[in-house]
Amino acid sequence: MGYNNKKKSSFGGLLALTLVVGGGLYVYFSNTFERVAPEVKVASNGYWNLKKPLKVQLSDASGIKSYKVILQTPTDQTTLINEQLLAPQASINLEVKPPRTAYSTKDKEIKVIIEATDGSKWNLLKGNSVTKVLDLKIDKKKPQLSIVSNSYKISKGGSALVIFKAKDDNLDELYIEGNDHKHFKPQSFYKDGYYISLLAWPVTDSSFKATVVAKDKAGNISKSYVPLYLKQKDYRLSKIKLKDKFLKGKIADLAEEFVETDGVENPLEQFKIINEDVRAKNEILIHKITSKVNDDELVKSFKINKMYPLKNAQVVAHFGDHRKYYYNGEFISEAYHLGLDLASNAMAEIKPQNKGVVIFSDYNGLYGNMPVISHGLGLYTIYGHCSSIKVNEGDEIHRGETIANTGKSGYAMGDHLHFGVLVQGIEVRPQEWMDKQWIKLNINDVIKNAKEIIERN
Ligand SMILES: [Zn+2]
Repeated sequence: MGYNNKKKSSFGGLLALTLVVGGGLYVYFSNTFERVAPEVKVASNGYWNLKKPLKVQLSDASGIKSYKVILQTPTDQTTLINEQLLAPQASINLEVKPPRTAYSTKDKEIKVIIEATDGSKWNLLKGNSVTKVLDLKIDKKKPQLSIVSNSYKISKGGSALVIFKAKDDNLDELYIEGNDHKHFKPQSFYKDGYYISLLAWPVTDSSFKATVVAKDKAGNISKSYVPLYLKQKDYRLSKIKLKDKFLKGKIADLAEEFVETDGVENPLEQFKIINEDVRAKNEILIHKITSKVNDDELVKSFKINKMYPLKNAQVVAHFGDHRKYYYNGEFISEAYHLGLDLASNAMAEIKPQNKGVVIFSDYNGLYGNMPVISHGLGLYTIYGHCSSIKVNEGDEIHRGETIANTGKSGYAMGDHLHFGVLVQGIEVRPQEWMDKQWIKLNINDVIKNAKEIIERN
């Protein structure tokens, strides 16, 4: 019996200990007694225009029981939100709107104080509290934006220039929105607060619109439409019959070269893959390397000579040709020709008439050996199908320097130069840049006019 009694009492002691420790552990680990204050997340960069609601997220393991948002200016304090919840919530999203009166405030800085308490029984049932103070700079002013000078017109597939003024104490983003959400990046021009950018109307688009957009850190936005006269232009649509000789010759040769046509035996399928998939890949590379703009640079002036890369050359294919390919009357594939084909003698010397920097000097699929030159202001020239390239990436080239020789590398039937001009990654009509009068009216005069206006201001 004594033995039994002893066992009982030791069992009772163990039970009591288990309850105390277990209860302690329960208090220690359970959400009911958790000791972590609520988390407060605010979507803010430290600026507020007192219009856009401030987005605040409160969260807590035991749930949010109460919260308060206070707006504090140097002279005044307003409670914007004060809530007590019957049942705590794990997460609460708030949209804090300032009172109407706040918009007329002259204060440059305000404080937003966010207080939250959770539903924990910790702290003698009072729960855990947090106070977050946000120091916000008030900016209610939209950026100042005005067009200073621009090309009078833009042609379908062509280029234009715009110079504008943009001012804001907290300027955050500045771009020109073109078609399909394309953002042209402007560069600083001449004097503080002025910007310059070339624009391009993609040849495959039926219309064009350009809008300068300025955003500040507080979310104020200004937009200014660039007043360009749109000149439609017809481009050639050609129907090309695919011949067996071509498919079994050039296409069969190219098919051996590209991984995309690995294992594809049908010549028409090979052609389709080369004309579409390989071309798309080659053009993505071209667009990527020609999209860069040096936006740290202050553009003082921009001098460009009439482009004329090949002496005594004949135009053998135009920019913007829409080519549709057929075989035995059946449509197979299509493509746009996005450069100007020039031919003179075989392996003729290619001499750009403008200085620049070589940014690419390599083989690029259908374009063959292809040097690419940056002339500044987001203007690039490319030279396709070369037999040999005389320059290396990074080289600075002078006006009239030989950079390569024409050839038929890549997708070319005879020896010729595929001459492409790009504005911030968009192919444009080379003929404009080969026309002295066009350059004067659309580039030089716009710059001259802008400088005169800026000097007067
Ligand atoms: Zn071409």
